Amino acid sequence: MTDHVEHLEFQAETHQLLELMIHSVYSNKDTFLRELISNASDALDKLKMEAYRDKDLEADTSDLHIELAVDHDARVLTVRDNGIGMSRAEVVDLIGTLAKSGTAQLRKQLLDAKTDAAAEELIGQFGIGFYSTFMVADKVTLTTRKAGESGGTRWESAAGESTYSIEDLDEAPQGTTVSLQLKPADEDDHLFDYTMEWKLREIVKKYSDFIAWPIRMTVERTVMDGEGEDKTEKTILETQTLNSQKALWTRPKSEVTEEEYKEFYRHVSHAWDDPLETIPMKAEGTFEYQALLFLPSHAPFDLFTREHKRGVQLYVRRVFIMDNCEELMPEYLRFVKGVVDAQDLSLNVSREILQQDRQIRAIRKRLVKKVLSTVKDLRNAEDQEKYQTFWKEFGRVLKEGLLSDTDNRETILAVSSFASTHSTEELTSLPQYVERMAEGQSAIYYMTGESRQQIENSPHMEAFRAKGLEVLVLTDPVDEMWVGSVPEFDGKPFQSIAKGEVDLETEEEKQASEQLREQQEKDFADLLGWLQQTLDASVKEVRLTARLTTSPACVVGDVFDFTPMLERMYRASGQALPETKRILELNPDHALVTGLRDEYAKRKDEEDKSALAETAELLYGTAVLAEGGELKDPAHFARILADRLTRTL
Ligand code: ADP
Ligand code: MG
Repeated sequence: MTDHVEHLEFQAETHQLLELMIHSVYSNKDTFLRELISNASDALDKLKMEAYRDKDLEADTSDLHIELAVDHDARVLTVRDNGIGMSRAEVVDLIGTLAKSGTAQLRKQLLDAKTDAAAEELIGQFGIGFYSTFMVADKVTLTTRKAGESGGTRWESAAGESTYSIEDLDEAPQGTTVSLQLKPADEDDHLFDYTMEWKLREIVKKYSDFIAWPIRMTVERTVMDGEGEDKTEKTILETQTLNSQKALWTRPKSEVTEEEYKEFYRHVSHAWDDPLETIPMKAEGTFEYQALLFLPSHAPFDLFTREHKRGVQLYVRRVFIMDNCEELMPEYLRFVKGVVDAQDLSLNVSREILQQDRQIRAIRKRLVKKVLSTVKDLRNAEDQEKYQTFWKEFGRVLKEGLLSDTDNRETILAVSSFASTHSTEELTSLPQYVERMAEGQSAIYYMTGESRQQIENSPHMEAFRAKGLEVLVLTDPVDEMWVGSVPEFDGKPFQSIAKGEVDLETEEEKQASEQLREQQEKDFADLLGWLQQTLDASVKEVRLTARLTTSPACVVGDVFDFTPMLERMYRASGQALPETKRILELNPDHALVTGLRDEYAKRKDEEDKSALAETAELLYGTAVLAEGGELKDPAHFARILADRLTRTL
């Protein structure tokens, strides 16, 4: 052994989370063993695959297994695997830091959590993995040797310390050994005696039965030797395999319990929540495969970050090939977890090959259809609770498919839900919207924006409200993207109420108002022309509108213009955009607008029209603000507004 022991600081966030684990609010402490076994199983999968790919790898794969050993007297539980192991750098990286994104967010929410139950749910959502060992142990020692390397690494940390030690070892057995110095049992705190074999057997049966590798326990058994009073005791050691090792996806649904599916889900997804829906699949024929997919019940913290790993596990004839197989699941279904086991692929299959593979493409297509039809079933179910959970957690992600998956667009639209002016509480589906459409209404009206409030108060909404027309209230960033490229649903085009001209009048109304309109066009022609000149830097057109009932003015875009929110999203992502000029629409019945017209008529021959120009600027500026847009020179706007207000006092 070398003398090189280093003491390293935990990352601040990791340390704080560790503290939370040590004083754990999580009542199901048994789960630490599930996590260690899950990691060991992953390590064995990886070694098997690596040895297959690299024939020169110096590793013994003849008896891959997981071993549990206890030392009653010393109160030590050891979980050992002879899998892939970790290099020193990997130990620091993977074990020294709680590398999951969202850690900071979780910690903050945990500190804010009012009750233990709330904290527990958060931990359940996040999943703690290796660190869950600190719920049951005062000291954790991990010894590991990476397959192919000669030396090993020892990592150790005691509960409550802000550092861990790390040390190089000249030799170590292949794989990873985790030794837990157990806390004293305290059954009131759900902390059991994890040196009791029956307890370990119970936990393995409950959480890890399906693990494909044997989980063995070495037990001591004392038997009586001899007969009568003259007996001697003899201790024999025997090894028991605790799990049945049955691959869950190969078993018919009727033979698998919900509990087993649940635990398998947790293993493949590294999650702690329950699956919302379990989807077993079996395909025979040209491309034979079996799959077991899950819809989670909670979105992971990192669903919208770059680090998020998507995709399901790929097996070939029950041999693990890879995690996070992206080729099998499109990005907009990145929340789907599970396993696909293909019959006819080569064990040698690489990512590059997968991308080209016809069979993989065919399987992916089927998986997508199946997932969508499962969501559709949830949508159509009598009990809407599951669907609502699904939509709350994953709706925003699923809608990305409206852009990227044109083949399934109709289905995605049909299972989607939207906020609308019909109800402030309940979401609506598109078929429901269509059913409620007014007579003569040919389009599905929507408006995008940053919040419901902003949309509801926007001037664009006025005429629609007055006419009782329902408008979809779209506030997710992804909404901005798809509405531009999805032309219609059920033959009804989507139409933004903030773009283009609105025409809400019936034929009769039109005829009745035609004369009035012609008159107005004449009356306002001078003013419109002058405003156009004055505001030329900001607007491309000034026109009268019938869409306003209470506001004096609003700004609208042309049908293909960017909305203010979309513009902001693009700018925020660092993309340069040409300035889009908006259209200013005036309400010809509003006193401010008619007043401005009369004032302009009086002064149109005066040299200095700066006061009028200021009014024009205020009119335009307030319209921009009402829409949720940004002023180009807010300070200037504020100054002229303050001037005006002063004069009114
Ligand atoms: P997760 O399993 O969700 O990645 P964990 O905290 O359980 O999170 O483990 C962190 C990482 O440490 C694993 O992803 C793996 O790379 C590594 N690791 C943990 N246990 C082992 C083990 N027994 N053998 C090899 N690597 C391991
Ligand atoms: Mg893990």
